[in-house]
Amino acid sequence: DPRIHGIKSKIRVVPNFPKPEIMFQDITTLLLDPKAFKDTIDLFVERYKGKNISVVAGIEARGFIFGPPIALAIGAKFVPLRKPKKLPEAWELKSLLHSSICSKMGLELGLLTLKNELEQNSQGDVIREEYILEYGRDCLEMHVGAVKPGERALVVDDLIATGGTLCAAMNLLERAGAEVAECACVIELPDLKGRARLNGKPLYVLVESH
Ligand code: 5GP
Repeated sequence: DPRIHGIKSKIRVVPNFPKPEIMFQDITTLLLDPKAFKDTIDLFVERYKGKNISVVAGIEARGFIFGPPIALAIGAKFVPLRKPKKLPEAWELKSLLHSSICSKMGLELGLLTLKNELEQNSQGDVIREEYILEYGRDCLEMHVGAVKPGERALVVDDLIATGGTLCAAMNLLERAGAEVAECACVIELPDLKGRARLNGKPLYVLVESH
């Protein structure tokens, strides 16, 4: 596709960032070019439109740039997969609810209302997956009620390196009962063999960088 070359040319490669010997693929320069940015989104939309995908799950932070426009264009919901402690948990909503209800009405009625509200609010429960990075660990979290069992999901991020992040993202979706149809990234670093960590799940990328 002739659009791929234009996209690749707009990704800036920054040597020794964020630490020595890393060649950082900087997508902020792609975002500065409306044609290349639109081509990027269009290529994904052309691939996934009409494929019965009802969930686009984007990985914090750069999956939040590419995921939402794809979700809107294919008529899917967007689910953020977030770094630890960013998502409000059900128990936080619950204690808030508890104090507001008990202060306003009799205990029995308050507890009954609370029980009903808790049942409705269980979609606020958070599940998490830890994963190993080159140095140390990281974690992704998702609201378990954001996807329904059997829904078909697309996982979106800007880049796959070792594949650990995408693997954790897929585990979250599968634990919530969703089926991961495919993972999609703008850039793949094939030398790091991240694809092999995806348990055979298909991965679609626009450009490779060596
Ligand atoms: P992995 O888990 O596959 O080793 O790393 C992928 C994650 O690290 C992605 O969420 C991606 O945003 C981030 N990442 C790692 N290296 C780069 C890079 O060179 N450029 C960008 N934009 N992101 C990177």
